[in-house]
Amino acid sequence: MSSSSTRALSNADETSHARGALKAVTAATAATPVMPGRAAILAEAPERDLVAAEAAGAQFMQALGVDPYDETRPDLARTPQRFAAAYAEMLTPRPFDFTTFSNVEGYDEMVVVRDIAVQSLCEHHLLPFVGVAHVAYLPSDLIVGLSKLPRIVEHFARRLQTQERLTLQVADALVAHLHPRGVGVVVEATHSCMTLRGVRTEHASTKTSALRGSLRSDPATRAEFFALVNGALH
Ligand SMILES: [Zn+2]
Repeated sequence: MSSSSTRALSNADETSHARGALKAVTAATAATPVMPGRAAILAEAPERDLVAAEAAGAQFMQALGVDPYDETRPDLARTPQRFAAAYAEMLTPRPFDFTTFSNVEGYDEMVVVRDIAVQSLCEHHLLPFVGVAHVAYLPSDLIVGLSKLPRIVEHFARRLQTQERLTLQVADALVAHLHPRGVGVVVEATHSCMTLRGVRTEHASTKTSALRGSLRSDPATRAEFFALVNGALH
C-alpha cells in the first residue's frame, strides 16, 4: 500500500527563490531576454572545509557510541573521510550552461521531460529524499536543449532542500531563463526521514507541483500537462 499527499504550489511571487539561488551571466549579445544564448548557471559554491568535516564526522560517530578508530574494525577508520566527501558532493551543484535557441520553427506545443531523477537532502534531518521530476514548458521565442531540464533539477537538488522549495525553484528558473508561455513542474519523492525513522511510513511518497503562466491559468493546458505527467507515472 502506498499513500501520497499532493500539495499544489503555485505562488507567482516565489520568483525570489530562483533569483536568490541563481547567478545568471548572459552573453553581451543576448542582452534582451528573448534572444538565445548561453546563460552560465553558476552555483554559489558553499564554503567548505573537508578536514574539519571529517573531524566532525568522527566526533559525530563517537558521540553516538561508534568509535571509528576501533582497532578491531579497521574498515571504519576512513568512514569519517568518506562521510564528509559524500555530503560535500551532495551539497555542491555543478555549474552548467543553460543553452537556449531561437524557436525558428515556431514550435508551440508543450515540451515535457518526464521521470527526471531527483536526489536531494532534506534540510530538517540531512537525510536524502529521492524520486522523479516531470518538467514541462510551453515555448515562446526560445527553446532549450532538452538535457538542460534534468540539469536544472539537479542544480537545485544539490543543496539542503525542502521538496516544496525545490519544485518552486525549478519552475521559477525556467520562467526567468526561457520566458515561456507556461511552465509545469511535478516532483514525486520518498523522504528517508519519513520512511526510515519517526512514523516509518515505508511507502509514502509526497507529490508537489508548481504551475506558471498558461499551465496555471488555462484549464485545458493544465489538464493536458497533468495527463502527460500521470501517463508517465503508471
Ligand atoms: Zn526530513
